[in-house]
Parts: sequence; C-alpha cells; structure tokens
Amino acid sequence: MLVIEKYNDSLHNPYWKYQLGPEAYEVKDTPHRVEVIKIALRNDERFHFVTAKTFPERIISQIHPYHDYILKTAQSLKEEEEFYPDLFPGEGAHLLKKVDAPLWGGLWCTDAVTPIKKKTYEVARASVETALTGAELIRNGKEKTVYALCRPSGHHAGPRVFGGYCYFNNAATAAEFLLQKGKVAIVDIDYHHGNGTQEFFDEIKSVFTFSIHGNPEFEYPYFWGYSEEKGKGQAVGTNHNEPLPAGTQLKEYSEAVARILKKIQAFNPSYLIISAGFDTHEADPIGSFKLRTEDYLSIGKQFKSLDIPTLVCQEGGYNTNVLGECAKNFLLGIM
Ligand SMILES: [Zn+2]
Repeated sequence: MLVIEKYNDSLHNPYWKYQLGPEAYEVKDTPHRVEVIKIALRNDERFHFVTAKTFPERIISQIHPYHDYILKTAQSLKEEEEFYPDLFPGEGAHLLKKVDAPLWGGLWCTDAVTPIKKKTYEVARASVETALTGAELIRNGKEKTVYALCRPSGHHAGPRVFGGYCYFNNAATAAEFLLQKGKVAIVDIDYHHGNGTQEFFDEIKSVFTFSIHGNPEFEYPYFWGYSEEKGKGQAVGTNHNEPLPAGTQLKEYSEAVARILKKIQAFNPSYLIISAGFDTHEADPIGSFKLRTEDYLSIGKQFKSLDIPTLVCQEGGYNTNVLGECAKNFLLGIM
C-alpha cells in the first residue's frame, strides 16, 4: 500500500494555552504522532512511502473561506508566537469582511484550542495536499487503496469555520476532487464526530457522510453528531451518525460499522474516504471507547469487503505508544 506523506514541522506544536492554562505542556497533537506511525509502517515491506505533490492554492481556498485569514495571520507571526482568537461573534456575523485581521479570528474559528503559529499554514496546506495526492491516485485508477498520513487533522474544519485542532478539511477537499468523477461516501471513524465534514456535504446528495463517535451528549463537539442529523434539503437521507456510549467495545463498534456498510452498498459510490482516527483505543488519553490494538485489523477488514477505491486520511489518535500499531493494523485489514 502507498503511504502519502509530506511535511510535519515541529514548529506547528501548539500547547492549548486557554484549555490547560498558561503553563500547560500536556500537548496531545504533537509532530511525534506522525513519527510513530511512520516507524510502524516503515518496518513492514508491504508499505511504500511517496511524497505528496503540490496542488494549486485555489483547490483549498475555494472551499475554505478562512484560507486567507490563516495564511496572513501565520505570515504575521514570529517563530514562537501563537495567535488565539478570543472574540466569537457567532452566527449572523458578516463573514466576508476583514478577512485578514488577526483580531477578527473568532469570525472564522469555533474555539480557543486551535491557535495559529508561523508554520501552521504551511503544515495545514501540506496535510491537504497529502490527501489530494491520494485522491488523485485512486481517481486515475493507479491505486485501489491509499493512506494519506495527514497532520493536522481536518474533520472539524467546516465550510464556514475551523476549529478542534483542524485548519483545512483534508477529507472534504479530497471528496470535492473525487466528486468530479463519481459519488463519494465518507466514513469518519475518529472518536469525535466529524462535524466539519458533515457540514460541508449537508446539502449535497452525491456525497454520503457517516460518522461513528462518542455520544455528543458528553463528548466534543457537543453541538453536532446526533442521530437525528440526516442531511438537509435535497440531501436529506445522506448523512448518518452513530453516537455510541462510553465503554464501547469491538462487538458494538463492528455492529455500527456493519449498519454503515449496508447503507454504503445501497448508495453505490464510486469512491470511499475513511477519516481514520485511533482515539477510539482503550488507552487513548482523550477517548472513552475500549477498542484494543488488534481490533483495528478486523474493522479494516469490514471496510475491505466493500471493494471500492478507498482513500484513508489520518485524523486523531493521541496515545503514541499504540498509535503506530493501530494505524498499521487498520491498513493491513483494509488492503
Ligand atoms: Zn478525535
């Protein structure tokens, strides 16, 4: 299997000043996460690494209205500075004004845990290009299943605002790219609901979005991810959420996957994108599910049974002692 990688700069290493306090160094989304996945996959000859291509800026900017804001804010910062939005005007704000003024960051970002640093734009763009390179390989039929080793994650970044450690939506940008050739199904198996991805395609019936996640009644992103969210307008029926309780183990998880596979088969897409987070592991410091390292092999096999050209995009997963093996097992299952 091809593994697409690009760029993983240690200067994009925010420390959650407003979530954990000014002296907090308990960073979860570290560049080390990518390193442990690379080590696990490099030790296995079935994986081959390739560097992501560069894609035109407009592919990203045309679907992310905050593209220029992230770019210009990053450019304005010194190496160790971090910018946190602290003013959130909410719905109804005039979103097309003052796009490049850092003071107005709250127009574009849902929270104060997704700061911008000097390298953030560069790294976030490389992460999208990693997904796009994978999408191109399956679109032109050169590969059946490809893994895009993305960081930062993308699934909380939406068509209006970014947030939740995500800047640009890697899976959604890849889906837009694939959509030119056929219908797309996106399944988000990160522990957290893929609210950004869902919102991108809420009204687009040629993309079916699915997510299996910790119940938002007690888990981030709280305001999205309920089972009654089924798509809007002409696209009602093309979103499906599976919120699951704390303590979920393989049996219940696999049953949720099976329900989703049935719906994918009925939808009959040309492409499948999997937003793969491994914060569903029992040892993850953020999640509450109880999946074990070996479980990801059987979950991967469930998706393999669909036999559809598939792009796997890396999302979360924060226990670096197990993250590499979890990713490897999932990919071995699906390949
Ligand atoms: Zn997550």
